[in-house]
Amino acid sequence: MSKIGFIGLGIMGSPMAGHLAAAGHTVTGFDLSEPALAKLVESGGQRAANVAEAVAGAEVVITMLPQDEHVLAVTTDVIAAGGDGLLLIDMSTIRPETSVAVTESAARKGIRVLDAPVSGGEAGAKQASLSIMVGGSDADFAEALPLFEVLGKTIVHVGPTGAGQVVKAANQLVVGGIYALVSEAIVLLEAAGVDARAGLDVLAGGLAANRILDLKRESMIARNFQPGFRIDLHHKDMGIVLAAARQADVSLPMAALVAQLVAAARAMGHGSLDHSALLKVVETLSGRD
Ligand code: NAD
Repeated sequence: MSKIGFIGLGIMGSPMAGHLAAAGHTVTGFDLSEPALAKLVESGGQRAANVAEAVAGAEVVITMLPQDEHVLAVTTDVIAAGGDGLLLIDMSTIRPETSVAVTESAARKGIRVLDAPVSGGEAGAKQASLSIMVGGSDADFAEALPLFEVLGKTIVHVGPTGAGQVVKAANQLVVGGIYALVSEAIVLLEAAGVDARAGLDVLAGGLAANRILDLKRESMIARNFQPGFRIDLHHKDMGIVLAAARQADVSLPMAALVAQLVAAARAMGHGSLDHSALLKVVETLSGRD
């Protein structure tokens, strides 16, 4: 059993920290939010007063924070408080180059780092069925694997530092693209006077089948956009996709289009809705909102 410091106890981090505590690990957590800390104690963890207190005595520190700036700020404190041999696992979705920068500064103190972003959403975090894509060394991955197995079902070591974030960027590109296409299919079917529910049922049984059609077609047709995964976070992720493409010197025209549709959703005031609310943008383009 490990002593784990867990920083960032939000939608994803809260159930993840709870699973680790339930599995018998000693979990000491920190978050800026008081209710998040209280929830950790209810799930069998201990609360820390700050990052340094969560890191003290820990063998492993896990971070699950919103964006690059939060990860940079918190990991600076983790590196200052942590010592030689500590394993820092960042499970947030951030830019690959930020993961590389954190790994380089941690190495100066003998702290090892894995980037391990996840897919599967709040449901995946609650059901411990996340997909986890991991960048870093073989030895560090092997050490972290028993912890990942508490949190997820599909766990893949995809390459060196930053590779986990590149795979997550590809994931968000494909998810955003499918939402845009399913939205266009709904608008087309409804505008042509065809029953969208019947139409999507057929699509879901043929070559166009995909998980978003399976899980979200009912709620999209009903215009239920309760999050889930917020447009604001997908906007952040499309920025990561475009930056990663630039870094890799490739042209991704569909990524650019999806990024603009997500940006439009945000500009229209839908930032706090589920990313399936891309349907609202596609409807607006045809004057059907
Ligand atoms: P969230 O906003 O619910 O949680 C983030 C938590 O970090 C909050 O509780 C916040 O108080 C805390 N925090 C922020 N700054 C802090 C600091 N300096 N010190 C301590 N705590 C701090 O976000 P989330 O939905 O849990 O997402 C976390 C990460 O996981 C993001 O990068 C997101 O893109 C990614 N992700 C989210 C989902 C999802 O469905 N929500 C799915 C996959 C990946």
